[in-house]
Amino acid sequence: MFGKVLIANRGEIALRVHRACQEMGIRTVAVHSTADASAMHVRLADESVCIGPPPARDSYLNTAAILSAAAITGADAIHPGYGFLSENARFAEMVEAHGLAFIGPSPEHIRMMGDKVAAKEAMRRLGVPLVPGSPGALSSLEEARAVAADVGYPVLIKAAAGGGGRGMKVARGEAELEEAYRVARAEARAAFGDDSVYLEKYLDRPRHIELQVLADTHGTVVHFGERDCSLQRRHQKLVEEAGSPALSAAERDALGGTVTRALAELGYRNAGTLEFLWQDGRFAFIEMNTRLQVEHPVTEMVCGIDLVKEQIRIAAGERLGYRQSDIRFHGHAIECRITAEDPETFAPCPGRVTTYHAPGGLGVRVDSALYSGYAVPPHYDSLVAKLVVHGATRAEAIARLRRALDEMVVDGIRTTLPLHRAIVDDPEFRRGDYTIHWLERFVARRRAE
Ligand code: ADP
Repeated sequence: MFGKVLIANRGEIALRVHRACQEMGIRTVAVHSTADASAMHVRLADESVCIGPPPARDSYLNTAAILSAAAITGADAIHPGYGFLSENARFAEMVEAHGLAFIGPSPEHIRMMGDKVAAKEAMRRLGVPLVPGSPGALSSLEEARAVAADVGYPVLIKAAAGGGGRGMKVARGEAELEEAYRVARAEARAAFGDDSVYLEKYLDRPRHIELQVLADTHGTVVHFGERDCSLQRRHQKLVEEAGSPALSAAERDALGGTVTRALAELGYRNAGTLEFLWQDGRFAFIEMNTRLQVEHPVTEMVCGIDLVKEQIRIAAGERLGYRQSDIRFHGHAIECRITAEDPETFAPCPGRVTTYHAPGGLGVRVDSALYSGYAVPPHYDSLVAKLVVHGATRAEAIARLRRALDEMVVDGIRTTLPLHRAIVDDPEFRRGDYTIHWLERFVARRRAE
């Protein structure tokens, strides 16, 4: 097992990895920008190294500085967290070339799944059902027209290098196609330096359902059930549940079988998530994330497993030591992503937190790097806390979530706490009756009132 792990991230996710390491007797190295010198992840780590100025490209994305920090501190392995360098195949290769373990999948699989066109092609070959659309990247507007006519409108133009919902444009009819094609390509070029786009049928009322998997380097692949992440705004998740209020155990098992067989054939290793749209009882693959995800705690709560410890054990070459039939699901878990944003306009609200009080009690977990007096810097993602609850049933989890949201205090900055309270009170949410379009309408209704 590793003696020391460098955590190439910040905020709650750096803390999350630190906690797993501590419990495994592994020392930790935090890296930080000058803006994060007094951040919680730096305070708690065994050692810390400043890797550059506030902009992420000069610090948290500065591979040379991060690899130097690992060399200076004598770390054996690097955990990338999520975001930043976590899906950068070149970084994973450099980590391995420096004789360190990369706590994640192989560079080859990171690269394959990072290109969404290649990912869809690989999944098609492995027998995983896809959203109907173009067989590869679109070579021209004429091709887009032909494919759209074939699959039927509305259609979605998506960036091959996409992520975070960027470079995605809907065309409701042929008249809108040229504009969608042009804007999606321009956005993709600006955001990812790559303007390849592909086309999918735009589903009108799907749920976003994703499956968590782990694979060791000895051929065992298991899944930990699904998460329902349909509550999204601008294709970004706000609330996640495990399991899905809409899925039966038989549907989960069938999907799990297809996915674990496919990943075993691929020779995949470490953690991954396959994302699907689910409509009319049918699953359609949209993408695979080759990393730990923000919403992983809901899976941990229902499975009673620490996914980060498993990632570390796998990277150290250990066997999972259990089979699919050993994995059981208990109760229901819900996560709210609380961000430093205005709850109505979603404008970022960095600044000093005067009072922070985290809720507690049975079945309540808060993953956050906040403390009273902490100044949320303006340079990074606005996520400041994940409130996660677990209950024996979905109804108990909702009651617990409402109570915990009431207890939670983040004063001094605006946060999305009021929005989360409103969502939890909504009768449709309580019934589990929602699709990926529900939250946009809910937010618009609230603003109109
Ligand atoms: P990104 O990598 O940018 O997050 P995804 O492919 O994961 O992009 O899609 C993000 C979200 O966009 C999905 O969760 C879903 O809400 C929506 N979406 C993606 N593809 C489709 C589609 N074909 N039809 C309808 N909605 C879609």
